[in-house]
Amino acid sequence: MSRYSELRDLLNSFEKDFIKFYEKGNKSAGTRVRKEMNEMKKKAQEIRKEIQIDSLRSFCYFDGFKAASAIPFVDGPGVPLHFLTGHCMLSKMKTLTIVLLPLAFSLGFKGEADYKKLHFESVVVDTHNDVVQRILGGEDISIRTHHGQSDLPRFREGGLDVEMFSIWVPPEKTAHSYFDQADEQIDSIDSFVRRNPREVGSARTAEDVKRLVKEGKFVAMLGMEGGHPIANDLRKLEHFYRRGVRYMTLTWNNSTAWATSAKDETDPEAKLTHKGLTSFGRKVVRRMNQLGMMVDVSHVGEKTFWDVIKTTRKPIIASHSSAWALCHHRRNLKDDQLKAIARNGGVVFINFAPAFVDSTFAEKENAMLKTNKARIDSIRATIRGDDFIRDQYTAEQLSREYEPIRPALAKLIDHFDYVAKLIGTDHVGIGSDFDGIHVTPLGMDDVTALPNITRELLARGYSEGDVKKILGENFLRVLREVERH
Ligand SMILES: [Zn+2]
Repeated sequence: MSRYSELRDLLNSFEKDFIKFYEKGNKSAGTRVRKEMNEMKKKAQEIRKEIQIDSLRSFCYFDGFKAASAIPFVDGPGVPLHFLTGHCMLSKMKTLTIVLLPLAFSLGFKGEADYKKLHFESVVVDTHNDVVQRILGGEDISIRTHHGQSDLPRFREGGLDVEMFSIWVPPEKTAHSYFDQADEQIDSIDSFVRRNPREVGSARTAEDVKRLVKEGKFVAMLGMEGGHPIANDLRKLEHFYRRGVRYMTLTWNNSTAWATSAKDETDPEAKLTHKGLTSFGRKVVRRMNQLGMMVDVSHVGEKTFWDVIKTTRKPIIASHSSAWALCHHRRNLKDDQLKAIARNGGVVFINFAPAFVDSTFAEKENAMLKTNKARIDSIRATIRGDDFIRDQYTAEQLSREYEPIRPALAKLIDHFDYVAKLIGTDHVGIGSDFDGIHVTPLGMDDVTALPNITRELLARGYSEGDVKKILGENFLRVLREVERH
């Protein structure tokens, strides 16, 4: 038995006792735990001599040693002991820190290099990014843009292999139709791909993704956010499929004529003539199934959601939504919805928006915006461009004010953890919403921080296999199933 597995066994049995001790108040387990802590300390000192420790953070990646993820300085204060519910007091955590820290330092087997290795060798997919709006505003994302949350150099740095760029037409009235505007947005991604032939490829199938990733390319795919551009016409839906759109979110915050949104379904002022899918809406879902376009239920209302579940014959996705149980936001999915997606074989891709992640954020943000109202008004008055660009610029100007209210990274990881525990690791993925959100959780400033998800999932005890599923394999599975006729 190697020193590594020797320690792993010890720690596994320690963990069982530890849970009994703290969760159930079992005193005899407590005595045993204390004894074992002392033994471990001794062993740790021996092993410390044998092993080169490569970094301060490295200890928390020892996969048998979940308790280490609780040590507060791993990611700022407040990182919870994920398996201790209810009885974990700060003083206990402090004791734990003092006792376990020397041991922790000795466990540098799966260090920084290891989580990065796993991250960079995995196929990493993000199903929602709104940077197209910045491209339309005149930015070139082929080069480092030094603002916003993504561009090609930063996609590469974050180990991202596949991005699904969101084709989203804002509801403000313009002279151009939704259809034309969506087409123009697709053109902008096409030209981004064409201008970077050595680095970027565009994929329409899971096979394309596999090939391009093998060639070392960054893969661009398209998702349409809101079904408005199809203009109630299945031929236009087919047009967008031919142009490479591989999912369509049936609504945005505004409903389509054939599907109602979460916003409208929950707004008493919305004066809806129907709720859910109309018979044409059901035709859209069935046609998407036939074409091999993923049906996306992010943004849709609950009635629409359940109508989709009844109608679809293929797995569905939520391209950028989080868990309602942790944060009651209308854009998040309730437990029965999550379970229905699992039964359907689909995947929920977790959204990073602070308002969807942290139930206290909206209130804090409103208070902050109120305090700074005069300044915000004067900032906005100086910016030309649409609301999206204004909001983004304003948030950048307010970064110092946002800093204290940004949720901790652990709050975001809690959503991955919650969904994985409720419906299984086959049904979770990443749907960042980068460049569609103006503020991000701490430790997730932009797309370059994606490896932190890998690090944190490993720290919470997820196996490398499960992490790979969450990072991208679940997406590829659903895409393949939807492609199948
Ligand atoms: Zn959205």
